[in-house]
Amino acid sequence: MKTSMEIRNQFLDFFASKDHKIVDSAPIVNHGDPTLFFCNAGMNQFKDIFLGTRQTSDKRVANTQKCLRVSGKHNDLDVVGRDTYHHTFFEMLGNWSFGDYFKKDAISWAWEFLTKVLEIPQERLWVTVFGGDEQDGVPADEEASTLWHEVAGVPKERILPFGKGDNFWEMGKSGPCGPCSEIHIDRGETIGDLALATDPKLGVNGENDRFIEIWNLVFIEYNRNEDGGLESLPAKHVDTGMGFERLVAYLQDKKSNYDTDLLAPIIQETENLCSMKYSAQDTLLSDVAFRVIADHIRAITIAFADGGLPGNKGSGFVLRRILRRAALFAKEYLNTSDAFLHKLVPCVGKIYADIFPEILQQQDHIMLVIKSEEESFSKVLENGTSLFNKLLEETKSKNLKEISGTKAYSLYETHGFPVDLIELMAEQNEVTINHKEWKKAEEKHRELSKDKEFDYNFSMTEIEGLPATKFNGYGKLSGQAKLLKLIGT
Ligand code: ATP
Ligand code: MG
Ligand code: MG
Ligand code: MG
Repeated sequence: MKTSMEIRNQFLDFFASKDHKIVDSAPIVNHGDPTLFFCNAGMNQFKDIFLGTRQTSDKRVANTQKCLRVSGKHNDLDVVGRDTYHHTFFEMLGNWSFGDYFKKDAISWAWEFLTKVLEIPQERLWVTVFGGDEQDGVPADEEASTLWHEVAGVPKERILPFGKGDNFWEMGKSGPCGPCSEIHIDRGETIGDLALATDPKLGVNGENDRFIEIWNLVFIEYNRNEDGGLESLPAKHVDTGMGFERLVAYLQDKKSNYDTDLLAPIIQETENLCSMKYSAQDTLLSDVAFRVIADHIRAITIAFADGGLPGNKGSGFVLRRILRRAALFAKEYLNTSDAFLHKLVPCVGKIYADIFPEILQQQDHIMLVIKSEEESFSKVLENGTSLFNKLLEETKSKNLKEISGTKAYSLYETHGFPVDLIELMAEQNEVTINHKEWKKAEEKHRELSKDKEFDYNFSMTEIEGLPATKFNGYGKLSGQAKLLKLIGT
């Protein structure tokens, strides 16, 4: 079986052989950019080139880019652990042409790499192209359809048109944009004992684990004006991104990305550190927890290696929340009592020793930061639970069924006790929380904090892309399912 390292090198070597310069991944944390906390695609570091504000003499480049999709436009946090192929952190393999080659070479090389170099059978691959958008006046990408058929040799019935949502890329409301072609892989009618037979035309881009999107080829050929009109760009660009973990899973013949050599060692190490075993089931909560922990510890370790730190605002807040989410899953479903996430850091470092050596170099520092976060969060939980119990006693002693919203809010606001847990504990004890009072307290706090810098206790709704902290009834779910839902999974 090929290792992930070999597969990554095959990609880089292939594009080097096509005269691409292999460049480093940009750091995953965008220091000093308030509009984008984390790098979420390979093209981020080349944005200025596409906008025409930076020139480059390297017209062809390729790399593997560390990406994190936990906020803003791309936020996959909620599905992580529930499916087997969306991560918070993942590597995106990419090749770029800045005003150099265009659709013909991009398509023929992508196909050559997958079918000749990696020897993926053609019958496993499906291609999607942009089918046009009448309302917007953007034509279908006939050129790409023709090239996929004539240059790559893809049968016409395997080239499927899709609309703007999946197959048209825009940088923003105005600016460079263009159609994409995507390659999806058919993992077969069964994976293990899981039957997956479905119509490919429904499966591709559908809610389906059989057909998985692996590679997006964007052809930047237009510029959208402020008034919404499109004009053809004088210099056309190619921007591609391939999900590395997904590719490795297919090539290592694994049902799930978590079974590859990129993530399985973290799960094994987690098993060694707790008393539970991973059984790779889709819905078993302890298995979801193993996957969430493997994913999250990898993400924060890599983010901390790139200079990120947990904090009360901005990217630091998002990282802290990921870390706490992993800690909650560990506590709730793997029955861990002591801080243990930091003990997984060396395992992550080892996996990436060759490609991202910065992790091992800073291992001790990263472990210290994570350990201290784990310990402080554990105190928050302990303290919050005892305060909640006091509040509960107070309520019951007055023969009330409703907890004061003002006091419950202060548990969250002053003591940092997660909203989700407050809600869950209330339900478990068959009391409700006065939501009107909670809202009022929240508004009052917001008013008072207006001039202050954002801090953790303020409101999670203020952070781009994070789900709002809201009260919902999860009345009919079991306790465990409730918690899972409440903590966002
Ligand atoms: P999906 O539809 O599966 O969410 P996407 O269309 O959002 O993927 P792109 O923005 O096109 O993804 O990114 C390029 C490639 O990166 C995808 O084809 C996929 O292989 C990979 N990718 C995207 N999101 C993730 C993720 N959260 N975890 C792992 N790989 C991902
Ligand atoms: Mg997506
Ligand atoms: Mg997609
Ligand atoms: Mg895509």
